[in-house]
Amino acid sequence: MSTYQEIIPTAGKILKKYDLCDHCLGRLFSKQLHLTSNKALGKKLKKKLSSGEKCHVCKNLFENLNHFLKLMMDASSNYSFTTFSVGAMIKPSIVDRDDSIRSEFKLKGVDSIKTDITKELGNLFSKKAKKTIDCVDPETTFTVNFKDESCQIRSKSITISGRYTKLQRGFPQKQKSCDNCSGKGCRICNFHGITNYDSVEGSISKLIFKKFGGTTAKFTWIGGEDQSSLVLGSGRPFFVKIQNPFKRKVKLSPTTINSINLSNLKLVYESPKKSLKFISSIKIKISTKSSINSEHLKKLKDLSRSPIVVYEKSGKRSEKKIFQVKYKKISKNEFTLIIKAEGGLPIKRFVISDDITPGISKILDTPCVCQEFDFLEIEV
Ligand SMILES: [Zn+2]
Ligand SMILES: [Zn+2]
Repeated sequence: MSTYQEIIPTAGKILKKYDLCDHCLGRLFSKQLHLTSNKALGKKLKKKLSSGEKCHVCKNLFENLNHFLKLMMDASSNYSFTTFSVGAMIKPSIVDRDDSIRSEFKLKGVDSIKTDITKELGNLFSKKAKKTIDCVDPETTFTVNFKDESCQIRSKSITISGRYTKLQRGFPQKQKSCDNCSGKGCRICNFHGITNYDSVEGSISKLIFKKFGGTTAKFTWIGGEDQSSLVLGSGRPFFVKIQNPFKRKVKLSPTTINSINLSNLKLVYESPKKSLKFISSIKIKISTKSSINSEHLKKLKDLSRSPIVVYEKSGKRSEKKIFQVKYKKISKNEFTLIIKAEGGLPIKRFVISDDITPGISKILDTPCVCQEFDFLEIEV
């Protein structure tokens, strides 16, 4: 801690050698005097000594802050948010001159010019746009580039959870990524990572981009289905993380898009970190090579006695429990099977008994094929 009188000689020495603006001069001493306004301190120190020359360190950058404030206002005009932070890119020559003057006059514990300029800009923007500075977890982040006089804005991602039902066959669950960028986002796909919107994923994305803006939408599904499957009941749960959204708070009500019904839509903190356990009730239409009778079908009751063992090509082994089994013969070569099972059982492989034991073909002792399967309910 020093007194004002004590710093005058050093300030005088510096000003004799270098012209400095109020901001840059005040900044060199404000911390040791516990003062908050660099500009006011610099002004006071310079009263007698000002030469009117350009500042040696910043070349009068601080006089030009309104220009950069305007860039920030323009960049943020489409975004709604309450908190923000500011970062800056400054010419290396300015940073070098700032460093060398501090070491020449042995001034320690001084804010860098970058700290000061982002603080000043933050205060100006806060006042003008009526937003709050938050350096820890801001909703939006500005990067002001003083080198090429540009301003970038990024907003923090938001995550939404919901459920969908699919009442018409033919929609795939997932959307193919943009050919050009493989889903990362590029000019061709308008930074969305997808170019078509003809799936469950595409339909939900379309709605989300319309309501929230944003670049890419990353989905976490609770289970999956076939293109030809229906999803009924209360629907399949999903999470979607939206990068760089324009809006953060939108009223979400149940809606239908491309025969996909969305419900339970709400903002959540984040997508689940590990896969959630769930139970699916599935109706499977199965055709058999040999004719079947009810004596054969009775054997299916055993499915709920012990877990189904699933082997993957990778050598991974997992077990899925089946809790309930119902079946109904349709014709001599066709029947429906309704099971309530632990989520993630590969249905088509389960029917043909492909590295899954016991499978339907094995139990009935005749080759079986899954014609279609629908989800009646998914419980998390
Ligand atoms: Zn300066
Ligand atoms: Zn692309």
